[in-house]
Amino acid sequence: MSSISNPRAALVQPLAYAKELLGPLAGKLDIAKSALFYYLLVIYARKAYWHLRARGITASVKDVYLLVSQFVVRLFLRLPSMQRKVTTEMGKARLDIENKLVPKGPNVVRHLTLPEDGKSLDWILAEMEKMDIELTGQSGIWTEGKLSGAVYHGGEELQKIITTAYDRYCVSNPLHPDVFPAVRKMEAEIVAMVLKLYNGPDTGCGVVTSGGTESIIMALKTYRDWGRKVKGITEPEMGAAYFNIKVHVIPVNSYTRKVDLKHLVGSCINYPDGAQDDIAGLSELALKYNLGVHVDCCLGSFIIPFPLSPLGLQLAPFDFRLKGVTSISCDTHKYGFAPKGTSVIMYRTPELRRFQYYVNPHWTGGVYASPSISGSRPGALIAGAWAVMQHIGTKGYLDSCRSIVLATRRIADAVSASIPELYVLGDPPASVVAFGSKHPQVDAFEVGDAMSKRGWHLASVTNPKAIHLAVTRLTVPVVDTFLADLKDAVQEAKLAPSGKGTMVALYGLGESSAVGPEMVGEIATAFLDTLYKA
Ligand SMILES: *Cc1c(COP(=O)(O)O)cnc(C)c1O
Repeated sequence: MSSISNPRAALVQPLAYAKELLGPLAGKLDIAKSALFYYLLVIYARKAYWHLRARGITASVKDVYLLVSQFVVRLFLRLPSMQRKVTTEMGKARLDIENKLVPKGPNVVRHLTLPEDGKSLDWILAEMEKMDIELTGQSGIWTEGKLSGAVYHGGEELQKIITTAYDRYCVSNPLHPDVFPAVRKMEAEIVAMVLKLYNGPDTGCGVVTSGGTESIIMALKTYRDWGRKVKGITEPEMGAAYFNIKVHVIPVNSYTRKVDLKHLVGSCINYPDGAQDDIAGLSELALKYNLGVHVDCCLGSFIIPFPLSPLGLQLAPFDFRLKGVTSISCDTHKYGFAPKGTSVIMYRTPELRRFQYYVNPHWTGGVYASPSISGSRPGALIAGAWAVMQHIGTKGYLDSCRSIVLATRRIADAVSASIPELYVLGDPPASVVAFGSKHPQVDAFEVGDAMSKRGWHLASVTNPKAIHLAVTRLTVPVVDTFLADLKDAVQEAKLAPSGKGTMVALYGLGESSAVGPEMVGEIATAFLDTLYKA
C-alpha cells in the first residue's frame, strides 16, 4: 500500500494506481461476487417457491411453457420478413378499427381548434345531432336493448331526475365541503344507504368513487398499506398494474366457475359468467389468518342485496354478515341506475378506510387531504346518484331486480332446454349468463359473430370460449327476440366456414396461439390510440 502515501504516482498513472489499490482486494471481490450470486439465487428460489405454492405444479409448468413459447415467438417475429408481414397486417387491422370508429367523408366537420367566437346552444345541439348519426347513419342504437350490460337504464323518468339534480349541482365540488354542504351530506348518505343494503356493521363506512375500477384500486391501496403497517409486508403478493404489487392469478374451477380458495378476493357476482365465489369460505380463511377479504360486488350492485329466494334462486351469504369480509365495492352506476361515474367502496371499520386516504401535511399549497384518487370530484354526479336512490326506493329496486333476474333465468333455462349445441357456464344466480359450445362444429365466437349480424352487442369470454350477456332493464322486453336470434345464430355458426368473423379473429387469436396475446395486445393498443383521433 506504499503508493497510497504517494499521491504524485496516483496523478501520473491513475490506472496503475487503481490496479495496485484493488490488487489486494481482488480476492475479497470474488467473495463478494459469490455472495451476490447466492443472494440472488435465494431471492429467485424464494419467489419461485411462492409462485409454485400459489399456482401448483401443473399451472406453473404451463406458465413456464407459455413464457418460453412467447419468447420464441417474439424472436421469430423479429425476423425481417416476419416484421414486414406483421407491419402490413397491423396496418390493415388499424385501418379496420379506424373505419369502424372514426367518421370520414366530405360532410364530416372536424372541430380541431377553438372557434373564434363562442357558439349558441342551438348550434351545439345541431352539431351533436349530426355527430350522433354521421358514423352509422342512426342514433341511439342502445334503446333497442340488444346489448350486454353497458347501459343500465332506469327508465325515461329517471333520466329527467338525473339531469335535474345534475343541473342544480352542476358546478359543485366535494373537495370544498364548506362551499357545498348538501353534496357532502348526500355523499355520506349514499354510503350509508349502500352499507345498509350490504348489512354493514355499526362501524361500517365508505367513500363514493368514480366507478368500480377506482373502488377496487382504492381497496388494493388500502390493503397494501394495511399490510405494510399491521403485518410488516413490504413485498405484497397480490395486486394490480398501478401499484407495483404482484398479481396472483387465481385458478377458477372450470365446472363451478368459482375461485379456488387460496386467495382473498372474491366476486359476487363475477363478470365473465355471473357466478358467485365462495365468500363464506374466503371469510373463514381470513379470520383464521388475520387477513382482509374484499368482495367485488360492482356488478352484483343493486341486484344481489335483494331477496332472490322468492324467485327460486339461491345466493350464498356474501356481505358484511360474514365476519371476515372487510371491504365491498358496489357500483351504483350499474344496477343502481345512478349516473355513470359513481360507485361505493365500503369498509368494515374507519381504521381500515384510513389506509385509503391520501394526506399530505407537507405540501406548500397547504395541508392536502383527499379520500380517494381524485382531487376535485363532480358533486353533480353524487347529487344524481342520491336523487336516483331516493326516487326508486326499495320497492322500485326490488321490482327491477325481479324482472332482470327472472329474464336471466328464462334465458339460461331456455338455452339448456332447447339449444342442445350450447351449455350455460356454471349456475348463474343473478343477472349475468354465459354460454359455451358443446358441439364440435359450433364455435361459440362464431355464434357471437352471427349475433352481431342480428344487431346484438354481446361480450366474449375466453377459457373456455363463450359469449356473455349481462341482462339489464333494456334486455327484459327483448328476451324472446334474443332466444330466437340465438337459435338462428347457432345454425348459422354450424354452417359457417370457421375463423372468419371479428370475434373469432380477435378473441380466438388471444387464446389459441402463442403469438395471440401479443398481437391482440397490439390491436387493443391501436384501438385505444384510435379513440383519440379527432
Ligand atoms: C363493472 C365491473 C367492475 C368495475 O368497472 P367500472 O367500469 O370501472 O365501473 C369491477 N368488477 C366487476 C365484476 C364489474 O362487472
